[in-house]
Amino acid sequence: MQEKIYKYAPMILLLGGLIMLLVTLLLERYYSYGHYGDDLAWRFYAIIQILITTVLGGLVKSLYRQVHIDMLTGLHNRRYFSTKLSAIQAQTPISLLLIDIDNFKGINDTYGHVTGDQVLRQFAEILQNSIRNFAIDNIVARWGGEEFAVILPRTGAKEAFKIADGIRIIVENHLFSCESIACKITVSIGIASTKEGADIDIEELIKISDAALYKAKEKRNYVYYCYG
Ligand code: GH3
Ligand code: MG
Ligand code: MG
Repeated sequence: MQEKIYKYAPMILLLGGLIMLLVTLLLERYYSYGHYGDDLAWRFYAIIQILITTVLGGLVKSLYRQVHIDMLTGLHNRRYFSTKLSAIQAQTPISLLLIDIDNFKGINDTYGHVTGDQVLRQFAEILQNSIRNFAIDNIVARWGGEEFAVILPRTGAKEAFKIADGIRIIVENHLFSCESIACKITVSIGIASTKEGADIDIEELIKISDAALYKAKEKRNYVYYCYG
């Protein structure tokens, strides 16, 4: 709810202002017995006020974006992700995927940082699209650097594993093209899942998926899961 208010702040403030203006005009008409319309100054003032609050609403929206969206990939960032993770605690079972691109330093070293950035952007798009195919309320975020995280509400370990392995295969087979350069990458994924109806300790869930990722990294291009 709070998120929607920030997102639609300019629209809400504009509509709110117009409604207030309309109500005030009606009251004026009702109480002034036909002598309405001769004081333009306050109307001018009200319209300017509406314009100012709408512009401020736009600034609030843009600030909200800057705080919650990762500028490179356009995905949500870790701050947003942590808030969401706490908010969906009731939707058990929940699975958390931590995804790390394998040997990404090698991509930067071989093709340069700019190409590395483009690979990150393309990877983020692939991840977002694949996750959306399963449910629209799955949340994808850039965890930091070349690491990404996904929350799958109402998804147990088995299904989460299938989804994660699907992502792993899609990435493995995708040719990332950046101007004249084409390259391939692989990912390692750690999964932590809670059981249905279980109480969730967010910190614990993150710790477990991190440990699972650590295990997956022993093999690379691999998915590993643990129960929470
Ligand atoms: P591993 O398989 O163990 O994960 O190896 P790795 O090379 O992926 O991991 P490592 O932690 O050694 O290096 C991560 C690299 O990711 C190094 C860093 O420069 C790069 N990286 C992190 N964030 C960005 C970014 O925003 N853009 C680019 N181009 N590179 C980034
Ligand atoms: Mg890493
Ligand atoms: Mg890595």
